[in-house]
Amino acid sequence: MHCKNIVKKMNINNLAKENSNSDLHIGNVKCSRFIFLDIDGVIAVPNKLEDGCEWGLNPEKQDLLGMILEKTNAKIVLSSSWRKHTLEDTVKYMEKEGFRFCDKIIGITIRAYHYVEKGIHLSIPRGVEIKQWLDTNVICPWCAYPEQKEKYQIFDKDGSFKKMRSNRLETDFTYVILDDDSDMLYDQSKYFIHCDSMEGLTLEQANKAIEILCCDCK
Ligand SMILES: [Mg+2]
Repeated sequence: MHCKNIVKKMNINNLAKENSNSDLHIGNVKCSRFIFLDIDGVIAVPNKLEDGCEWGLNPEKQDLLGMILEKTNAKIVLSSSWRKHTLEDTVKYMEKEGFRFCDKIIGITIRAYHYVEKGIHLSIPRGVEIKQWLDTNVICPWCAYPEQKEKYQIFDKDGSFKKMRSNRLETDFTYVILDDDSDMLYDQSKYFIHCDSMEGLTLEQANKAIEILCCDCK
C-alpha cells in the first residue's frame, strides 16, 4: 500500500511542506499529491434564485478547494464530465467558466464511460478511469510507455537487473477523489470523499481531504 491505513490527525497549518524524497514528475510538474476532481455536485451546486435555481460554479466551494490546494500543494486531475478531449482544451474551457485554479490542473482522466459491442453494453465506473490515470502516470508508467522502460530499471551493484521502479514502491504519493458519484473501486475507498450532489464540498470534507493528502505515505 502507498499510504498508511490510518490517517493521522495533525495540525493542518503545518502541512504544506513538500516531501523532499519525492522525485515524481507529471510532465514538467513535480507532484506527489493528486486531487481527482469532479465538478457537478462538488464545486458546482444549485444556486438559489428568486424564480428557482441554476447550477454553476459556487464561490464558497471554490474557496474550500483553494484551501485544500494551499495546504497540500496538490495538483488537480479533472475526472468530471466538464473535461474535454485534451488537457489544453479542458483548461481553456474551465478558464472560460470561471474556475479559479486552472494553473493547478495537470491532467484529465480518459473518457472510457462505456464499452460497446453489438449486443453488449458495459458501463465503465469512473474509478476505472482514475485507476488508468494513476497506473499510466504514477504507478507503472513503463507499462504504458515501454520505450521508456530503461528509465525505470533498477540494477544491483554488480550490474544485474534487480526490479522495475514502481512509484508505488519508490516514491511517496497520495490522492483524494472528490465526487458525488459513487462508482469508485474498492481499493480507492480510503481516498474517496463522497459529496452530496445538492450540497457539494463541505468544510468538514475539505479538512478530511487535507488529512488524506498529507498523511505519512510509504
Ligand atoms: Mg458529479
